[in-house]
Amino acid sequence: MRQSELFTKTRREAPKDEVAKNAQLLIRAGYVHKEMAGVYSYLPLGLRVLNNIIDIIRQEMNAIGGKELILTTLQKKEVWEKVNRWDDEVVDVWFKTRLKDSTELGLGFTHDEQLVNVLTEHIQSYKDLPVYVYQIQTKFRNELRSKSGIMRGREFLMKDLYSFNRTEEEQDAFYSKVMEAYMNVFKRCGIEDKTYVTFATGGTFSQFSHEFQTLSEEGEDTVYLDQKNNIAINEEVMSDEVLAELGVHKKDLVQKKSIEVGNIFKQGTKFTDPFGLYYQDERGESKSIYMGGYGIGVTRLMGTIVEVLSDEKGIVWPECVAPYTYHLLSLLPDDAESIAFANTLYADMEKRGMSVLYDDRAVRAGEKFADSDLIGIPWRVNVGKETASSGMVELVSRATGEVKKLSRDELLAR
Ligand code: ATP
Ligand code: MG
Repeated sequence: MRQSELFTKTRREAPKDEVAKNAQLLIRAGYVHKEMAGVYSYLPLGLRVLNNIIDIIRQEMNAIGGKELILTTLQKKEVWEKVNRWDDEVVDVWFKTRLKDSTELGLGFTHDEQLVNVLTEHIQSYKDLPVYVYQIQTKFRNELRSKSGIMRGREFLMKDLYSFNRTEEEQDAFYSKVMEAYMNVFKRCGIEDKTYVTFATGGTFSQFSHEFQTLSEEGEDTVYLDQKNNIAINEEVMSDEVLAELGVHKKDLVQKKSIEVGNIFKQGTKFTDPFGLYYQDERGESKSIYMGGYGIGVTRLMGTIVEVLSDEKGIVWPECVAPYTYHLLSLLPDDAESIAFANTLYADMEKRGMSVLYDDRAVRAGEKFADSDLIGIPWRVNVGKETASSGMVELVSRATGEVKKLSRDELLAR
């Protein structure tokens, strides 16, 4: 894309009321627009990043047998009453609304009940199981505080996967697969060395759930880390008993702030039994179904990548999620020969299927450099003073600042 056609502008200052670094940078670089606290629009560059993250998640979910669907945002009160989660005293993040005939509706903050209700029409026999379904969809939560930028939205994108198994063993096997798939996601998003599987509050069905916590000073959570043994424990479950059980010693632990980018949870029959979602086994006996729920905060993950990988000049995207791989800068906007060189190079890069943002604007080099640092595309290609005569361009790594001289053919061969 030509940057002259990109309607979004970079800006020096973020809005005064925006305190989170991720949103400050994303707003300044033109990725998102702040509609109100906890509510953000995704502009063309932001949507490209989001779609890259979604592609990674989708590939990993499909690889473990996930079937994608999309449930409704408008939800029936009766479905939520089945497990007693309609009451505002029980769930304090509800957004609710009404039909013209004053029927009450809820805006989905999660979809456990609703999915189970759907499945009652489709699952009868042991032959119908296991079932693994997921969606990537907007959730609504009336969060009390929303000071973490896109990391805590009142309207945000979540990937939620649900498993339905015949036995605990079958569920445990899938649970382990999800854990691996999640780590693949975080690895591909460039945050694996800061992201830990963390013991967290379980519930009635299992002693612990697992969270995926990414270390960051901007995180809202606190974890205790045993780096040597690669164990993290959420402070909400920290106790002497838990330490003994996990074979961890207090002296090996360091306290860290962190961001919960995902969590996985065994729910047992908490949702399935009340909806009468049972299956008939080989002998025709009616049996309960074990359910699991697995979330990734998709927009929170995007914010986390910004928090963890940015520097004082701006964002530093890893290649897999970057809006473009190359940022081609035409640095001599008054030199016809240089402009012609850059135009041809851009066309050739596009022809080769390279992903390029081409800064063809008639602004000075200093401004282009500053914008490029802020936007954070992994590879910058400078078309400068000697380029047209020598045929050599500079390739600069956003992450390390390393500069390489390349011929245009070498660049095109990358
Ligand atoms: P938190 O403890 O941060 O409030 P949660 O435990 O309520 O989150 P879940 O309901 O299990 O979260 O949601 C699954 C995932 O969705 C979380 O692990 C997190 O990554 C993400 N998430 C939860 N709430 C938000 C939010 N308000 N904005 C963005 N992402 C969120
Ligand atoms: Mg949580």
